[in-house]
Amino acid sequence: MGMTLQPVYPTKSLGRADFDIKAYMSALKDKGYHVTWEQHAECPCSDATDDHQPLVTCPVCLGRGEYWHTPQDARVLMTRFEYSEVSKNIGEFMPGAVYATFAPEQLPGIRDRFTLQNSVIVYTETLERVAGTTQAHGRPTGTRYPITSRTMTLNVAGTSTETTVHVTYMRKNGAGGYPTTELTEGTDFTIDASGDIVWTLGDALGTAPAVGVAFTITYFCNPRYMVLDYAHVVRDTHIKEKKPTSEYTAMPSNMLARLDLYLEN
Ligand SMILES: [Zn+2]
Repeated sequence: MGMTLQPVYPTKSLGRADFDIKAYMSALKDKGYHVTWEQHAECPCSDATDDHQPLVTCPVCLGRGEYWHTPQDARVLMTRFEYSEVSKNIGEFMPGAVYATFAPEQLPGIRDRFTLQNSVIVYTETLERVAGTTQAHGRPTGTRYPITSRTMTLNVAGTSTETTVHVTYMRKNGAGGYPTTELTEGTDFTIDASGDIVWTLGDALGTAPAVGVAFTITYFCNPRYMVLDYAHVVRDTHIKEKKPTSEYTAMPSNMLARLDLYLEN
């Protein structure tokens, strides 16, 4: 046996600097971002096949082998992921990465998602028109994110006009697969309360893309993040405030998360 290296702990503590969980919860309430938190699950449909691959026909995971469930409100403190020695060691700069801290009761798992309820970003993608009046959001046939709106006071022909915009650009393909007509929200299509495209106006005008024809769309959506890593796992501590003996207390957990538009979906 080698030499044991046991430190000497003082018999009497000199005073404690406990993490103030009440102050933290108050900061979370006052300053935390309002998000919708969804938990990640592996889909059990993969058990049905010999090679344990997800079922392409699965209505729950759509063949992805994973899905998200139990959406609920949460408040989250977020700070930017800085370029650091750590990120240099990872070997890449991670655009869209943040550190997020939830309440101790709301402990997200890896690949959980959370969506900022009051902020918007711009997203662009190419889709094919589906049959029917409404093109619902969500993979594989709809927009990746529910389309949300932004209300701005704009200069419309010299007059200040409060304007609500969902889609800033849309253009459909024509003969030979080349882009042709640009389409306008309110003239050729509308967006409903669920964030889905409604083609009623364009179908009546004859301007909407025919079923199967591709179109590009640029729209506002709420930014969605995916939890990638626990930044600090060991946070729980013993707290003695106004108590004769110290008490084990769960602490808020700090996560590394990233805008999921940078990730496969
Ligand atoms: Zn499945």
